[in-house]
Order: sequence, then C-alpha cells, then structure tokens
Amino acid sequence: MSEHKLRDLSGLPPKNPKPMQIQQIPIDVTDEQRIACECGCRYFIPVLELYTVSALVSPLGKDTLAQKPALICMECKKPWNPEETKKGDDGDGTLEKII
Ligand SMILES: [Zn+2]
Repeated sequence: MSEHKLRDLSGLPPKNPKPMQIQQIPIDVTDEQRIACECGCRYFIPVLELYTVSALVSPLGKDTLAQKPALICMECKKPWNPEETKKGDDGDGTLEKII
C-alpha cells in the first residue's frame, strides 16, 4: 500500500500542504499622503454596514443579511467616503479646508 493511500485512511493531511501565503508589500507613505476626516482627525475605525437583501435579488433566493466593510472617523464618527476624498483631489478646495 502506498504512503498516499495510508494517509487517506488515517485522515492525516496530505504531505507538504501548501502554506498560506501572506504577502506584505512594503509601501513608502508620507504624512502628506495620509487621509484625514473633514474634522481633521486622521484615525479611522473599521466597522461593518449591514444590509437586508430581499429574496427577490438575493442569490440565495431568500431574505439575506449582507455586510460591507466601512470606515468611520474616530472623532466625529462620520463614515469616510472615498468618493468625497477623490473630489477633494480634483481641486474643489475640500482638502485645503481641512489643513
Ligand atoms: Zn471626523
């Protein structure tokens, strides 16, 4: 009996399982690139937005709870909106007002 078959019978995991690869890409960031809330706070808390998905549109065919990760400002608890930050980059003065 081959070793492979023996392992199947004993319930042992296959030899040399692929290790989970967690790659951390080092990126140089400067303080100028850091995002700040409109209140000036630069810290954000990861939260979850919860949605009820109607059975009509849910892929599961029944009422479903869905969640979406979001970030809120630590100080004023306003949700951080990436779209608004982009608008600021286009030069409507939003970023200048913060600084
Ligand atoms: Zn804020």
